[in-house]
Amino acid sequence: MYTKALKRTTLMMTGLIAIFVTAIAMGLAARQMIAPRPGGGPAGPVEGIHEIERTPEPTLAPTPEPTPEPRSARIRAVGDLMVHQTQLDFAKQEDGSYDFHPQYARIADVLADADYTIANLETTIGRNDNRAWSGFPCFNTPESLLDTVRDAGIDFLTLANNHIVDRGFTGLQLTVDNVERYGFDYAGANRTPEEKERAVVVEVNGIHIGMLCYTEMTNGMEKIKGNGAAREYGVNYLKDADFDADVRKLRDAGAEVIFALPHWGAEYTQKPIQSVETTAKKLVAAGVDVVLGSHPHMVQPVVWVEAETESGEVRRGLVAYSMGNFISNMSKRHTDYGILLDFTLKEKETGVFDVTDVKVMPTFCWRQPDVIQTLPALDYYDAPPEGMGDDRWQRLREAVDSLRKLIVDFPMIGSKF
Ligand SMILES: [Zn+2]
Repeated sequence: MYTKALKRTTLMMTGLIAIFVTAIAMGLAARQMIAPRPGGGPAGPVEGIHEIERTPEPTLAPTPEPTPEPRSARIRAVGDLMVHQTQLDFAKQEDGSYDFHPQYARIADVLADADYTIANLETTIGRNDNRAWSGFPCFNTPESLLDTVRDAGIDFLTLANNHIVDRGFTGLQLTVDNVERYGFDYAGANRTPEEKERAVVVEVNGIHIGMLCYTEMTNGMEKIKGNGAAREYGVNYLKDADFDADVRKLRDAGAEVIFALPHWGAEYTQKPIQSVETTAKKLVAAGVDVVLGSHPHMVQPVVWVEAETESGEVRRGLVAYSMGNFISNMSKRHTDYGILLDFTLKEKETGVFDVTDVKVMPTFCWRQPDVIQTLPALDYYDAPPEGMGDDRWQRLREAVDSLRKLIVDFPMIGSKF
């Protein structure tokens, strides 16, 4: 985040300096235009002053507008940010505070190395009752996690997932309060009926990206007494969604590109179920350009999906069915790794955007005796990081091998490419 924040501040400062310099220049020009001629007399050669020294007449012809550079932005997206009890225990400090920075320390630079970074926050944040912080099955994590996630360069969090009502509707509201307070862009959970209606359009390098976040369900938590508002307006459920209307709303709000972040499908499988494939097609047909899926806790294929729109036009969308676990304490085969999807939005002459340079970075979640750390797996395929035992290293290599079979259409990258 520091790199990105610095970049943004620098850009802002450059802008301010440019405005300042322009203002001075304009001020000078204006002064020159109204400055009285020497002697205050009518226009014409003034005695003793050579013609050549006359103030030139100001030109009123406008400077031609430079052709704007085509806009582009590099995006990175990852799957589930989980916080299991073991991760809470590892984060706990002697003074009772929680520090999650070590868990993101080996991957923060990688996450920050983009113009915009997206993730799924699969826990509620902030204490709204007297219960202790908790991992599975009802996730609740201290606010300091957001400090780490923000420092790691993540800009956008989807809150539409099956755990957003884990601490009731008030827990959902508190999570949104905190996510907002820490400066994240977000969508998928709403504190009020009005918020449910808002069109979430973020701006990256001048490109307006509309964000649609949905979840299939919230583990039945919305049915518990006092949580009715979650069902009514608090959560964006897939089953309620009208994709055409949602896309239209974003376009009306200025969106030039549309991302959808569905939390869907069956858990613990590397293959998307039929209903997920059908929904992906519907999203693309409705005008979604990139689908960033999560929930199965395992990686599923990344593919181009073609779909026919209502008017009979064929559209193409990039679909990552499931990006897997980004960080967790899960140990089952295929749950200890995920992917970081890297792609670029490029403006074409027609003003529409291409999704290009799609790459996939395998990430491995290294569970150690006193810390859990996510790292770029390909960097350690040929030699393990210091301290990694052979069994863990074999799991890392298996993760990469398995992803090579699962994702065949796009190149695989390490942290340096
Ligand atoms: Zn989930």
